[in-house]
Amino acid sequence: MIWKYRLGWVYTISGLPLQDATLFVEDGQIVAIEEGGQSSEAIDLREWAVMPALVNAHTHLEFSNLEGPLGTQGISFPKWITEVIRYRQGFGENIAVEKAEAVRSGLRQSAQHGVGVVGEIATLPLIETAYENPQVYVVSLLEVLGLDPKISVERLAQAEEHAIYPWSLKNISPGISPHAPYSIRMDMVEHCVSLSAAQQLPLAMHLAETLEELQLLEEGAGPFRTMLENMGLFNQTDFPGGKRVLAYLKQLSQAYRAMVVHGNYLHETEIAFLAEHAETMSVCYCPRTHAYFHHDRHLIEDLLAQGVSVVLGTDSRASNPDLNLWREVQFVQREFPDIPEEQLLGMVTKDAAFALGVEDSFGTIEPGRSAMVAAFPIPKGCPDVLTEMLAGQPRLWNLAGGLSEVDLATA
Ligand SMILES: [Zn+2]
Repeated sequence: MIWKYRLGWVYTISGLPLQDATLFVEDGQIVAIEEGGQSSEAIDLREWAVMPALVNAHTHLEFSNLEGPLGTQGISFPKWITEVIRYRQGFGENIAVEKAEAVRSGLRQSAQHGVGVVGEIATLPLIETAYENPQVYVVSLLEVLGLDPKISVERLAQAEEHAIYPWSLKNISPGISPHAPYSIRMDMVEHCVSLSAAQQLPLAMHLAETLEELQLLEEGAGPFRTMLENMGLFNQTDFPGGKRVLAYLKQLSQAYRAMVVHGNYLHETEIAFLAEHAETMSVCYCPRTHAYFHHDRHLIEDLLAQGVSVVLGTDSRASNPDLNLWREVQFVQREFPDIPEEQLLGMVTKDAAFALGVEDSFGTIEPGRSAMVAAFPIPKGCPDVLTEMLAGQPRLWNLAGGLSEVDLATA
């Protein structure tokens, strides 16, 4: 059966927005778009605007049951990491079940805010049914830690297993996430990159996130060194000093897709390198998490000006009050009003879908793509639809089989 929807506005993202267009949907996919509304049986949605379901490029859903971020505004990053470790340890033997509950809740929260795809950093043990949500597609990037040589082999074996795991759910695909320079050795990063290239896996790595991280790389010293020493994981040969983020970028450029998460403190040469490799590399800016840690102003404008692909993420509720990606868009619009609005929309749809390797199904409204869309009610005679959308809040619609009264309620 083909479902037809006559819409006030369709922001396809692949091309110019269409006013008064009919979407044809079959088997959960868009099969055609026609301008105008000749089709008499179409469901009338002329007071709505839609865009592709939002893509949250970076989050850690296991923290979705936290009531508020860990620590306090402006907390130092190494201190915050210690809080995260303590929070995880608090689950004790219940960790798999508690985590699955949080992931489930995180997917529900995402759907409530128009998000139809998440780039989720997954940690073991992992319960597949936690991902059981008919509305949200999960790119499950397995986090790989690796400073301890004794468990490196096991970690890599787990990553390989994750890459080829026969999921019974249809809404998942795998990825890999070598965690961060202070938590994984370069040779382990290399293995992750090879796996990404061999299996066509999207890869994400936290990089150039804090000044403390740069200090550890450049001088082999600072709060991260102290933290690692306290954990019995500091080894001088891993952090001899004289290291730069650029060395990691060069390594990551060999991956199928590589997302640099945060990139708060990139140098000029590193930005130029990312621009040169924009066909596979991106930077994920997590605006409200960035603000939580009181970092220096983000380089997003420089990145965009030089041609780097920038996407947006919420990061987790351990550093952000919610998983509302649209609030990140609104934050960026407020803080960086010179960034064109259309470009902002791309950062949470098309560009993010590409960064996560799911661009064949998500990120644009065109034939062959998913029928999950983000919808905004638009009052009659509205003079500026995009401004109305940016001031509003989207809901997630599945156009695969009609819409419910809940979907259409505007109050
Ligand atoms: Zn993160």
